[in-house]
Amino acid sequence: MNEHKSHFRQTFPSVFVVQKHHGRNLHYDFRLAVNGVLKSWAVPKGPSPDPAVKRLAVAVEDHPVEYADFEGTIPEGQYGAGPVMVWDRGTYTPEVSGSAAASLENGELKFVLHGQKLRGSWVLVRTRNSNWLLIKRRDAFASSEDITRLEPRSVLSDRSLSEITKMSEAKMTSRGAEERGRSIP
Ligand code: MN
Repeated sequence: MNEHKSHFRQTFPSVFVVQKHHGRNLHYDFRLAVNGVLKSWAVPKGPSPDPAVKRLAVAVEDHPVEYADFEGTIPEGQYGAGPVMVWDRGTYTPEVSGSAAASLENGELKFVLHGQKLRGSWVLVRTRNSNWLLIKRRDAFASSEDITRLEPRSVLSDRSLSEITKMSEAKMTSRGAEERGRSIP
């Protein structure tokens, strides 16, 4: 039975993205498009393809779907200031009988990721308040390798986080130089 309260009809597969973000601390923002927004969790240690490893995932505020493409630097003084990388991106399919939104409401969502780095079946389980666990389920894509260490770069640009920081600094410097140039009579 489909009992969507929202008029929004979600079609699957939908977007998922994992953004590696060095704000106050390095973490991975895990985001699933649900009913037109990116439901988001901050995963301090990043996802692990090892079913024996349960990664803390703290629910954070929803983001607009367009944010899935953002790679660059959040400026000083803004919330989360620091470099953001599109670490993995692709689509996901919920493994649910009802809606993904209802499963999240109930504190457990199983889904299959079709990413460039993350694949196969995963589950998000709420433990208490905004704390969830992100766990790989056993299937052919399960592995004990340390994927965040083995594949540290962007799937969009192949850049590292420090290269993204340098790019943004270079851009700001050239913009500054341009403005200084313009102000010279
Ligand atoms: Mn973040």
